[in-house]
Amino acid sequence: MQIIHSVKELQQWAKEARRNGKTIGLVPTMGFLHDGHMSLIDTARANGANAIVVSIFVNPIQFGPNEDFDRYPRDFEHDRAMCEARKVDVIFAPAVSDMYPQPLTCHVAETTISQKLCGRTRPTHFQGVTTVVSKLFLAALPDLAVFGQKDAQQAAIIRRMVRDLNFPITIITAPIIREADGLAMSSRNKYLSADEHQRALAISRSLFAAQKTVKENPEIKAAELIGAIRSAIEKAGGVVDYIELTDSETMIPQEEMVPGGHHTIAVAAKFGATRLIDNVQLN
Ligand code: AMP
Repeated sequence: MQIIHSVKELQQWAKEARRNGKTIGLVPTMGFLHDGHMSLIDTARANGANAIVVSIFVNPIQFGPNEDFDRYPRDFEHDRAMCEARKVDVIFAPAVSDMYPQPLTCHVAETTISQKLCGRTRPTHFQGVTTVVSKLFLAALPDLAVFGQKDAQQAAIIRRMVRDLNFPITIITAPIIREADGLAMSSRNKYLSADEHQRALAISRSLFAAQKTVKENPEIKAAELIGAIRSAIEKAGGVVDYIELTDSETMIPQEEMVPGGHHTIAVAAKFGATRLIDNVQLN
């Protein structure tokens, strides 16, 4: 496994790999890797990638001024061992100064999906994401890239960006990997105390309950579903940021379920100081 720190060096590696007929799969991450990230590597391989690049970069421009950039968990040795065990070909771990020459006066922005859900409380977040992902695409030159359904809105925005800007890259979304107790895996789960972790299970449990309710009663009103999730989370001491019924492809909020449509319920809620997101597909 190679560890590459510079954009130029990664581009050279990628061009060489392409000349040798390799199919490059990119898995963008912010590190502090867990089994959710590992499943993205497996998904890249299952979709034909035979040269896997995992990027590990805590991207400063996707954090707001009062967010957790400085204290975001980092453990490069742990990440390196996990990637090595998964037979990753390259870890790309650039310095902030290499990714962002100053002054940075260009960015990539999606203007519609990015305004909803997480975009309402994190107004600059998705512009940071689309900018860094574009830069990673142009550094790793992948044939395919894998994103987690855990960040369903992010995946929808990347799909839209790739469509609108003609990136010649196949975007694959991989399912949410959960702890045995149901909590969606996340690097930020490290912030939760044992008690907060226990209470935060209200998120996944109420989402699974909503899934079951829709199966039994497909005519149910969105407000009723959302109300049940809200009261379960609030009863557990969580503070809801949003609970929305969305179209699964675009992640744009919908008033009601469309018969035969594909819908996802997306939640963001805080337990203590930790903001968690999760979602389930309904049909
Ligand atoms: P992060 O390092 O949290 O920025 O996540 C990097 C990638 O891993 C994103 O595409 C996430 O959606 C994905 N990811 C994070 N947690 C999970 C999970 N529990 N299951 C599946 N994918 C995940």
